[in-house]
Parts: sequence; structure tokens; C-alpha cells
Amino acid sequence: MSVKIAASDRQLLRTQMRLRGAACCRQRAINRVKNGTGNQHPGDRRKNQYSRHDMAHERCEQCGNPTPPWDAIHCGSGEGSYELLCTSCFNARIAESTGFTDFENVRLDPIRMIDCEGEAHQFHFQLRLLGDRIALDAFELRGELRTGYRFQLIDEADDDVFVLLGRLVERMRRALSVRHIDFRERRIIDSTVRGRIEWDESQAGYLPLAVVDGKEVSWDDLGQMLMSMEGWQFRLDIADPSEEL
Ligand SMILES: [Zn+2]
Repeated sequence: MSVKIAASDRQLLRTQMRLRGAACCRQRAINRVKNGTGNQHPGDRRKNQYSRHDMAHERCEQCGNPTPPWDAIHCGSGEGSYELLCTSCFNARIAESTGFTDFENVRLDPIRMIDCEGEAHQFHFQLRLLGDRIALDAFELRGELRTGYRFQLIDEADDDVFVLLGRLVERMRRALSVRHIDFRERRIIDSTVRGRIEWDESQAGYLPLAVVDGKEVSWDDLGQMLMSMEGWQFRLDIADPSEEL
């Protein structure tokens, strides 16, 4: 059996890691926590960060507007401190520091798409300027937190955003046209599973939570599904979030 989680491209991964490092984005702050470089237990930090969806929005430290968690970027301001910025202010700051003053800070409206099982998905977008590149993210929300399907496309900063959007939507359609897991029968449908690795906050320790077909699958459940193929082989590939699997 081949459990093909991803096709890997180390070169692209390294390039994107450099870009993200330059942008000091929110993900970097999370990674620092995951890598244990902070003073706090990873779980404590993440719970603090993600329990905020019940609370009043934090304010962007630049424009002062209330900013939902999915639109907030924790921008590094040196010596381990982070400033919370809304996406617009983050992009304006990067544009100013990199000279990309032509960058158009486009706000894309959410779109609704139907998957191959007839289930509706509402996708929101975030466009970030990362030096000489732009990242376009599409994601679902539960409350105000990102959940379910997530897609990302990274390209040159002077590319037309709407052309990028078209490419991303095509990729989303392709992903939504395939099911890997039969959730009713709790089994892997074919021999390939594509998904995303997250952290399972509900479990003790530091266990992965797989997100497959836009749904959360616990490490235990995934293991049980694999056991119907005991004795078979598998291959595990890891890929950057912006790669298409
Ligand atoms: Zn702002």
C-alpha cells in the first residue's frame, strides 16, 4: 500500500522558509513555540492564542482596528517580541520596507464551493506580501479560527492577483473533487491519503491531528484505518503548504 501524503520539493521548501522568515509572519511565531524556544509550555501558549476566539478581537497595533484571529499577523519586531498587525497593515509595512509600493492590497470576498459529496465549503482569502513574492491563502473558518481545507499559492509579487486567484480556485476544485476517507465506514477509500498535519490539542502530549478531506482525523483513528491493511507497505512524503499534492 502507498500512503502518499505529499510530493516533496526541498528546494521550494527552503525558499519559502526564507521568505517566511523575512516576513516574520504569525506561523513563525507558532513554529518558535513548537520548537520549544519560548519560555512557556507549547500547549499553554497555543491555548492562550486560540482561546481568543471567544473574546473581543485584539486590535491591530498599527491602525487600531479590531482584528479577528484569521486576519491577524504576529509580526516580529526584534528580540523575540511580536506586534499584532491586521493583514492590510502588515502588507503596507512590507511594501514600505521592500519598495513594492505598487502592491495592491486587494480584499477578496469569500466564495462557496461544493465538494464531490455535495457538501458546501465557504472559503475566505488572505493575501500577504512577502518581500518580492505574494502568498494567497484560502481557508475555511469555524467561528473565527481557520479549520478544514486550506490552500496556499506563492508567486511573484508583481503577478496579477486575480490570475493567482483563478489558479488557486482551480487547485481547490481539484482537491474538492476527491475523497480519500469514507468517514461513515471509517476507512481509507483507495491507496492514497492526502492531508495536513496539525497538533491535536485534545490529546495529552504532542500528537498529530490529520486533516483529510477538510475533516479532522485523530492519530488513533488514522492508525485504526491503516490496520485494515496490516502487512502492506506505505510511503510518507512531507510537502510545503503551498505545494499541490
Ligand atoms: Zn491594521
